[in-house]
Amino acid sequence: MRKAVLVFLLMCLAGAAHAVGPSAVAAPDRSLWPDPVDSTAGFDRASRAEMLVFAHELAASEKLTDADLIDALKIKQVDHASVEAIRDMYWKRLASGYAIASAHCGAQEVFCPAGADEAAFRKAATAFVGISDARYQAWYQNDVTFHRVYLNELLRLAALFPRVSSEVSTFSDHELSGNEPPDRHFLLTFDDGPTRAAGNTDKTLAMLREAHLNATFFTLGGNLQNRLQQASPASLGATYAGMCVGAHGWEHKSHSSMPDWQDSVTRSIALVHDNLPASFVPLFRPPYGQRKSDSDAFFTDARLRVTLWNIDSQDWNNKVDAEQVKQRVLALMLLWRHGVILFHDIHPKAQVAVPWLLQQTTGSGVTWLDCHAYPPA
Ligand SMILES: [Zn+2]
Repeated sequence: MRKAVLVFLLMCLAGAAHAVGPSAVAAPDRSLWPDPVDSTAGFDRASRAEMLVFAHELAASEKLTDADLIDALKIKQVDHASVEAIRDMYWKRLASGYAIASAHCGAQEVFCPAGADEAAFRKAATAFVGISDARYQAWYQNDVTFHRVYLNELLRLAALFPRVSSEVSTFSDHELSGNEPPDRHFLLTFDDGPTRAAGNTDKTLAMLREAHLNATFFTLGGNLQNRLQQASPASLGATYAGMCVGAHGWEHKSHSSMPDWQDSVTRSIALVHDNLPASFVPLFRPPYGQRKSDSDAFFTDARLRVTLWNIDSQDWNNKVDAEQVKQRVLALMLLWRHGVILFHDIHPKAQVAVPWLLQQTTGSGVTWLDCHAYPPA
């Protein structure tokens, strides 16, 4: 017990060491989970456990006042209605995921306290403080810390929305939130590239081909133009063959500080469309997920879909290493059970994380979506 307390304290300190300004970055230690996740039942057990721990923290956060949130999240103001709406959305997503993950709940199964509906799940998660089986103690202590920090990342985005927009919510049904794929289905996405020839973009593509996967790349116009000065459109088309390529703007700037953001969208999309026609997809990912609240008509007229994500790998963050990135993404795949994963091909961490995630989830029923099948019709 003393050892568990020490581990918990060390985790808190590690969390504090990662705190940069308002947001610490959450990364769990999956090696503390004692069971394999390489079967559907194993994936579902680990998934229920993650949902119960996260949902317990979600329930606890509902007792906080706006002043508490301002203090905890180190922000200046809280959009109360936005926080409440996003919490409700999470409860719905968690309850429906939990119902699916409970398919294997029987007499011998653990992490099965709730019934099938949202009210039963809320009640069970609110009361959940781990299970008595000693095999799960170290995991539980670590996971509580992880979900506390992770929930704060989300609540911070929720409290700032819509004044500061992000992936945490959408402005219309035309925007893609990342929650569209069916249960156990995940889409890989890579932002900010391409790098110069033989750089991380090419290494990422080689890693994906080796694994017989594809992904959607949200390229920056400036980077793509640089690359086109090194390579013809035909040869760059061959580099991206089999992949999907959308745009991420001409430069990496929030639309909130860009009076001519439409121009950045139009130019970056046209560059992909004209030079990589075989891989082009009419998807736009705004830098930082930030777009204007009234931009829906523009994107609809341009026949583009704003494409967000629901699983942030944090691979861009130099305070998080490849090991932490892979642990975090696996925990979030278990928590949300489906979705769109954000990586960056300009950084090398996904080259380590993705093969590990594939290996960990073999046999679990996880399907990596063909990028051409997203969004679902
Ligand atoms: Zn970006």
